[in-house]
Amino acid sequence: PTTTLQDIIGHAKEYGFVFPSSEIYDGLQAVYDYGQNGVELKNNLKQVWWKAMTQLHDNIVGIDAAIFMHPLTWKASGHVDGFNDPMIDNKDSKKRYRADQLLEGKAEEYEKNGELEKSQALLAKMGALLSAEKLDEVRELIIEENIVCPISKTANWTEVRQFNLMFSTQVGSVAEDSSNIYLRPETAQGIFVNFLNVQKSGRMKVPFGIAQIGKAFRNEIVARQFIFRMREFEQMEMQFFVRPGTEMEWYENWKATRLRFHKAIGLPTEKLRYHDHDKLAHYANAAVDIEFEFPFGFREIEGIHSRTDFDLKSHQDLSKKKQQYFDPELGEDGKAIGNYIPFVVETSVGADRLFLAAFCNAYTVEKGEKERTYLKLHPALAPIKAAVLPLVKKDGLAEKAQEIANSLKSSFRTVYDDGGAIGKRYTRQDLIGTPYCIAVDYETMENGTVTIRHRDSMEQERVTIAELKEKIGYAVSM
Ligand code: ATP
Repeated sequence: PTTTLQDIIGHAKEYGFVFPSSEIYDGLQAVYDYGQNGVELKNNLKQVWWKAMTQLHDNIVGIDAAIFMHPLTWKASGHVDGFNDPMIDNKDSKKRYRADQLLEGKAEEYEKNGELEKSQALLAKMGALLSAEKLDEVRELIIEENIVCPISKTANWTEVRQFNLMFSTQVGSVAEDSSNIYLRPETAQGIFVNFLNVQKSGRMKVPFGIAQIGKAFRNEIVARQFIFRMREFEQMEMQFFVRPGTEMEWYENWKATRLRFHKAIGLPTEKLRYHDHDKLAHYANAAVDIEFEFPFGFREIEGIHSRTDFDLKSHQDLSKKKQQYFDPELGEDGKAIGNYIPFVVETSVGADRLFLAAFCNAYTVEKGEKERTYLKLHPALAPIKAAVLPLVKKDGLAEKAQEIANSLKSSFRTVYDDGGAIGKRYTRQDLIGTPYCIAVDYETMENGTVTIRHRDSMEQERVTIAELKEKIGYAVSM
């Protein structure tokens, strides 16, 4: 039997990875909390990304911008006027849907029935109508395609309306003084408005990049599929500033680099693919998604966009502050290339979506004489790297095991566990993806050796205590 999203949600909750937010009040839709193991896995993902994007590049640095930004930021970026989803309500069930998702669902149905052309024609038509803002015709298309509400089973639809995805709130305590501001819907703008600050203070030369990890907020109309689509989530973005005319080269370059990253953290090649955008956002001249095969199908985990000079230029127009870079390199005419607004290639991945991808991929149920469930996470991502388990508590074994655990702790997350039969303790670690279990037995007391039990193969290997740190450390670093 194949893994379902329900299996994933159940496992994530039972073993301390992800809980519904404020669950004792029946939860808050599309908001989730990370538990004791989830926070470790998520932190590991963020660290691996941060290292891959900053530490390993001489020309990329990081920042941490505030969530609140001047409201004009979102005017310049196009979010105030254009960050909308088309929504439609069913009059009988009173349920709200995203019009584009209803049509995409229908197209997927065609595709499953082998009617590929019909599916593609529908998507193309939908894309054209939405970009032209022909919302009445989008509604007509939904009715024409006989799409019914899954709850009421009727096609009694309201008109299609645009719904802005930004959350807003007030700053200032006195009503007259307060002004509306937004919770950022993407981290990118914090980078754009700091472009010159970083460039000047860091003496950065184009091409260079700025990376950031941080929370973003979107009032998603339809939030299903667990942490795939949340209202509060975390993005890991990098904006790479390049000389105009070189952007396609960099776009191809980042496209390849980012796919390699996903493979390096353990996502298998056959579960990853590129998906080129047919319909480009207002700011882009090329865009591709990296998709991962979730239990509910191939879906976007990361976007790579060639954003032209759209953002810097709009900020320059609205703020009246020049957003130019002086390029000292010599052109063909022997003179410095001089001032220009750089073009931007961005890579944008959701930390939560990547978490879900890594978690789904790791979740393994092995049939056989005895069924075994374990998380085959890359050791660098595993919440706990090593568990030290004394075979029995007596005869000094417990103390010895504790001593070994203490000696490993400062290098990587290590736990000590002496509760219950050793088989049960192995199972506990399997369920949260611990790659190494170190058993301390009577031989340890005699000759200073322990066994390492490998999570995926369950094979055991005898090594000296002195070898442990290097052996495990090597495997868990990335
Ligand atoms: P989608 O089409 O799925 O709504 P998007 O194209 O709007 O996503 P971008 O604006 O390109 O997404 O954001 C970049 C990345 O941020 C996405 O690839 C995804 O990993 C993540 N992301 C976007 N929206 C959400 C969300 N509501 N919940 C979790 N992650 C998200």
